[in-house]
Amino acid sequence: MIEKNESGEVWIYAETQEGELQELSLELCGKGCELANKIGVKTGAVLIGDNIEHAAIKLFEYGIDNVYIVEDKRLTYFRSSPYSHVVVKLINKYRPQIVLYGASNLGRDLAPRVASAVQSGLTADCTNLDISDITEKNGTVHKNLLLQIRPAFGGNIVATIVNYDKWPQMATVREGVFSMPSLDSKRKGNIIREIYISENETTETEKLLGLDAVEVIRREVQKRKINLKSARVIVAGGAGVGSKENFDLLFELANLFSGAVGASRAAVDLGFIDAEHQIGQTGSTVRPLIYIACGISGMVQHRVGMEGSAKIIAINTDSSAPIFSIAHYGIVGDLKQVIPLMVKAFRER
Ligand SMILES: Cc1cc2nc3c(=O)[nH]c(=O)nc-3n(C[C@H](O)[C@H](O)[C@H](O)COP(=O)(O)OP(=O)(O)OC[C@H]3O[C@@H](n4cnc5c(N)ncnc54)[C@H](O)[C@@H]3O)c2cc1C
Repeated sequence: MIEKNESGEVWIYAETQEGELQELSLELCGKGCELANKIGVKTGAVLIGDNIEHAAIKLFEYGIDNVYIVEDKRLTYFRSSPYSHVVVKLINKYRPQIVLYGASNLGRDLAPRVASAVQSGLTADCTNLDISDITEKNGTVHKNLLLQIRPAFGGNIVATIVNYDKWPQMATVREGVFSMPSLDSKRKGNIIREIYISENETTETEKLLGLDAVEVIRREVQKRKINLKSARVIVAGGAGVGSKENFDLLFELANLFSGAVGASRAAVDLGFIDAEHQIGQTGSTVRPLIYIACGISGMVQHRVGMEGSAKIIAINTDSSAPIFSIAHYGIVGDLKQVIPLMVKAFRER
């Protein structure tokens, strides 16, 4: 087990795809800096791959002080066992207080392996993070703990999870939960180079790490068909849309603003629209300028994915639907009548 290190940094795992830093990691940089400021420590990032030093420069620009870089041809592509070996080795050596991972496919694979190896905890899919002192019932005060906040029990409560006696404290966060931090192109930091497997380590180590277990023959990266995150206007539909055909109304409205179409999980489950349109706890997190929620009741699992939108407009037949409690503008009515009127009005303008 790792002892608490009062000067231990706040780290983020810097994820790359084809050598490019992922936006999700940059979002974590912003939150990581905020947490580090509260504790009064530096920020660090773990960067693994081959020929990836250029990514370190970007991490400095987004607020990271120290980048721990491990470059090796054998680490060009992510593989669970070798990558988790590297992260565990770095954690044991430098003892950060906090490590944040993106809740991407890679992060969801890597973080639990690391948590288990360092015998610490991990909270998945946090919707917020903060720092606070916690006092136990017996009066013991734990300083500067990571508050790991996320919906729990099917979304019926928002739980704050605290790990007060294991280090590092770790969490994963989904894309879009934190906004992108501002960039300072003049900012510089330190690169700390670490060796993956030293010359005198045997091929047995490689075998142990599963390096020969999987051979990457070809890699294809599938581009996202829709990018909800960058849309300035989102028209989202729920079970109340009623059918796949009715979703055409939402596409028509969204197209007027070059916007995107989102959906609740109920609409996806009913087969009205593909899962990649889903917004919420198990879908995308978005914060557009305008979010038009059509036939969506506003359950907490949906709200956590869209309540950061600048303006929310809700259309619902039920005036007591919870969505109206967070909407800036509410229209009580049938979306099949309201949307065509909106389209007509916007066209005329
Ligand atoms: C672990 C977990 C994760 C989940 N993750 C997600 C998630 O990521 N995203 C998500 O959305 N949900 C998620 N859910 C499901 C969530 O709890 C709700 O069931 C879901 O959001 C409800 O979708 P809805 O609002 O479209 O449907 P409903 O709750 O059925 O609401 C439909 C609404 O449409 C209105 N309506 C009906 N007809 C019309 C009409 N003609 N015109 C206007 N309004 C009309 C109704 O008044 C009603 O308010 C999750 C649940 C769990 C347990």
